[in-house]
Amino acid sequence: MSESKENTTQDNKPNNLAGIKNIIAVASGKGGVGKSTTAVNLAVALRQLGLKVGLLDADIYGPSIPRMMGLSGRKPEVNVEDKEFYPLQNMDVKLMSIGFLVGENDAMIWRGPMVAGALSQLLSDVKWGELDYLIVDMPPGTGDAQLTLSQKVKLTGTVMVTTPQDIALLDCRKGIQMFQKVHVPTLGIVENMSQFICPHCGESSPIFSEGGAERLSQEFKTDVIASIPLDMQIRQDGDDGFPIVAAHPDSKHAKLYVQLARTVKEKVDTLNRRKLSIPIMQA
Ligand code: ADP
Repeated sequence: MSESKENTTQDNKPNNLAGIKNIIAVASGKGGVGKSTTAVNLAVALRQLGLKVGLLDADIYGPSIPRMMGLSGRKPEVNVEDKEFYPLQNMDVKLMSIGFLVGENDAMIWRGPMVAGALSQLLSDVKWGELDYLIVDMPPGTGDAQLTLSQKVKLTGTVMVTTPQDIALLDCRKGIQMFQKVHVPTLGIVENMSQFICPHCGESSPIFSEGGAERLSQEFKTDVIASIPLDMQIRQDGDDGFPIVAAHPDSKHAKLYVQLARTVKEKVDTLNRRKLSIPIMQA
C-alpha cells in the first residue's frame, strides 16, 4: 500500500516530521539574549508536564544545545542505508543539533548555501518518531535561514525571546513581523534578563531597562508569557549541561520555566481547537 501524502516528502522519502503534533520555534531577532537557554528549559519543562518532546538545534552558526543538554562531543546513530539520523536523548528529551554532526565551532564559518543545505537535512533526515512537541532553537536574526525554516516546516507558532533593551526589542519586532509575513502565529514574548535580584539584599534592579516587552506585546496583540530574571544559577546550570528546570526544579526560576511551559501548552491547545472549529470550505 502506498503511504499517504502526509507521510512522504516530494522525493518520496518518509516524512520524518509526520509524527510530530506541534512544532514551536524559539526565536529572537538578536543573538545572546537567551534564546537557547529558553529553548532547553522550555523543552525539559514540557517533558516534566508529561509530554513527548524533541529539541532541534537549528542555530547553525552557534549550536549550543549539545553543551546545554550535557551531550557535548556525542554523535548520533546513523542509518547508513536510508541516510537518516536517530536523535540523541537526555533528560528524556530527544535531541538533534548540527553540533553533533560537525564540531560545535565548525559551522560558524559556513556560507548561505551550506547553511540552507544543513538545515534542510536536519529537517528531513532525523527520525523523531511520535512527539507532542518539537522545540526548534532557531538561528538568531531574520534572514534566509529563518525564512527557509518557516517555509519548509509547518510551524505551530513562535516563542520570541528578547531582553528589555531597546536594541533587542527592535530586532525582536523585526522577528515578529517576519513570522507574521509567513503566517506563523506568535504565541508570546519571553522577556529574559528582565531584572537582577541581588542575592544579598533582595533588591531588584532593571539592568537592561524595563517595560519594553510589554509595549511590544501590546503593539502585536500578543502577551509577555514569562519574565525571567538575570540569575547566576540559570547561567551556571546551562554551562554545566543541566538546565535549571532539571538541576534545581524547586528553585523560583525553574518554576517560572514550568509556568512558561504550561502557558505555551494552553496557547497551543487553544490554537488547535480553533483550527478544528473552522469549517472546511467546499470547493
Ligand atoms: P542565545 O541563544 O540568544 O544566543 P544563550 O541562551 O546562549 O543566548 O545565552 C547567552 C548567555 O547568557 C549564556 O551564557 C547563558 O547561560 C546566559 N543566560 C541566558 N539567560 C540567562 C539568565 N536569565 N540569567 C543569567 N544568564 C543567562
